[in-house]
Amino acid sequence: MSGLGCTGPTSHVRHLASLWPGLNSRVLELLRTQNPMKYECAACGYVYDPEAGDPENGVEPGTPFENLPHGSVCPECGIGKDMFEPAG
Ligand SMILES: [Zn+2]
Repeated sequence: MSGLGCTGPTSHVRHLASLWPGLNSRVLELLRTQNPMKYECAACGYVYDPEAGDPENGVEPGTPFENLPHGSVCPECGIGKDMFEPAG
């Protein structure tokens, strides 16, 4: 009953979409509006992808940038997350 292995709300929605194909367009719209933003490091250009997370630094895939632990830093250059800017 641990949270390990949970792939997050996004994959859960996708699973629901596969169960009810008729809801696809609505679910896809939901996915688009809930899709977490990527953030780019202003110092070195590293891009944090919420879908991929940062497992090497203990960030599970599916973690939105806003939910990164306080004090998180860029894995490339070590600058604080407050220096990241929304990307694409
Ligand atoms: Zn950086």
